[in-house]
Amino acid sequence: MQSLTSPRYLKELLERHNFRFSKSLGQNFLIDRNILDKIIEGARITDSDFVLEVGPGVGTLTRALAEKAGYVVAVEIDKRLLPVLEETLEGVGNVKVIHGDILKLDIGRLAADEFSGAPFKVVANLPYYITTPIIMRFLEGDLPFTTIVVMVQKEVAERMSAAPGTKDYGALTVAVQFYTRPRIVARVPASVFMPPPKVDSVVIALDRRDEPAALVKDRAGFFRMISALFSQRRKTLLNTLAASGLTDLSKEDLAQKLSLAGIDPGRRAETLSLEKLAKLYNTIG
Ligand code: SAM
Repeated sequence: MQSLTSPRYLKELLERHNFRFSKSLGQNFLIDRNILDKIIEGARITDSDFVLEVGPGVGTLTRALAEKAGYVVAVEIDKRLLPVLEETLEGVGNVKVIHGDILKLDIGRLAADEFSGAPFKVVANLPYYITTPIIMRFLEGDLPFTTIVVMVQKEVAERMSAAPGTKDYGALTVAVQFYTRPRIVARVPASVFMPPPKVDSVVIALDRRDEPAALVKDRAGFFRMISALFSQRRKTLLNTLAASGLTDLSKEDLAQKLSLAGIDPGRRAETLSLEKLAKLYNTIG
């Protein structure tokens, strides 16, 4: 079988299957062997690994994963790609393709059925229209993933790996860094895709932390506070919290409590580290 990263072969394959790219499904297929290798290296795949791939497309990454991993399950929403995958994955024994929407599938169930509940890695060249919901599903889903290695839009990678006090630091940063440690694997120009997207991309690895980065009394409550704080970025902590309905304390009592906890009530949420945000929540929660 020819290399799927060859643009010529990919074109021929897709034409033979009468396939037209769907923009709305985020279909930009990888045509660069070097980037493919970087994704595999970034995921540190070994032959005992279970891997879940989101959106295999024509199977370019899937095949490369199957060469290194123990077992790969790939979930693809577009049923027009199933016959293509049948062809490109023919004779590859350790791959299963599931036709489905990753946002609707019960991933916990899938992991239990396919991986016997063992830890697994998520590796994907994600469809950009749903990057954040997919990542949030894995982070918040109490799933035994060990690492998530994904190609995402550059701006999203910058938000996921941002430091406090920067413009990119927000609710997504806090959610990602609460559960994982982000690691930039590769910066990727639009030219490595067919068709090229309008944006540059980054391959980012999110390595699960043994313990969440911060200890909070109630995770759901903490993330409600985060969402309130970062939706009002220009306001001070005190003003946002007082108007948020998250606490019954009066503004004066709130100010006093924050000061006692060593948090300046005049600061903005975007300047607080995760640990400080957790402390804030545990103080007012
Ligand atoms: N992995 C291939 C590659 O690297 O060339 C394709 C990547 S392409 C950026 C994204 C893929 O995700 C497409 O095949 C698309 O059909 C699929 N997809 C889009 N939305 C999906 C969803 N909700 N669930 C599963 N797959 C999805």
